[in-house]
Amino acid sequence: MIELHTPAEIEAMRPAGEFVASTLTTLREEVGVGADLLDIDTRARELIAQRGAVSCYVDYHPSFGASPFGKVICTSVNDAVLHGLPHRYRLRDGDLLTLDFAVSVDGWVADSALSFVVGTAREQDLELIDATERALGAGVAACRVGGKLGDVSAAIGQVCRGLGYRVNLQFGGHGVGRTMHGEPHVPNDGRAGRGLKLRPGLVIAIEPWLLEGTDEISTDPDGWTLRSADGSRGAHSEHTVALTEDGPLVLTARGMSSPAETS
Ligand code: MG
Repeated sequence: MIELHTPAEIEAMRPAGEFVASTLTTLREEVGVGADLLDIDTRARELIAQRGAVSCYVDYHPSFGASPFGKVICTSVNDAVLHGLPHRYRLRDGDLLTLDFAVSVDGWVADSALSFVVGTAREQDLELIDATERALGAGVAACRVGGKLGDVSAAIGQVCRGLGYRVNLQFGGHGVGRTMHGEPHVPNDGRAGRGLKLRPGLVIAIEPWLLEGTDEISTDPDGWTLRSADGSRGAHSEHTVALTEDGPLVLTARGMSSPAETS
């Protein structure tokens, strides 16, 4: 079932979005060469506890997971791109790290992800990250009342394909509300003018992710971490977005820039 939220409910979602955004900003500032993925999880737990938020990940146990996730943040490094299960690993100069983070605050969920390079960046990694951010911006801009969900998917896919990347359709965005994953599914490519009619009150996570050399993935033995099939690196950008009569509202926007801000 697709839930539509009242303006008052969307207002009530703001604190969750602001906390998710500020946590990602804090972690991005704090994490450098030599940081350990398990310490990033520990730091995220501290911030969650200070805020009185509730992790959406720690008990999450979908059919594809070997066991409950057990951590509060996804840390995907280099050829890992989605659902990276934090483990004992110290980040090295030039590693490409994706943080994906979702919590509920006052019973409302927000979900957001960003990728960045720790230390010295390779140009192709910056281009990959930039492609996911541009695709996210295009997807957000296509969130217009009266449009169709296919407009959002098509906008994402057009940016990705236009920059020479292939798009994997196995994992994409999703409805967000009281729980982390609701309907509708938001594919990262599609046909404009098709699918669900976009109405005020729809709240979705939009999350383009790309691999540099392939659109095929493999799953680690931990049952969670998804990697590129060819060893090439991946990047992922995600925001939780509410559709309002006035346009898209990016609930997880970091900083004070425009609503379509994605970096
Ligand atoms: Mg997420």
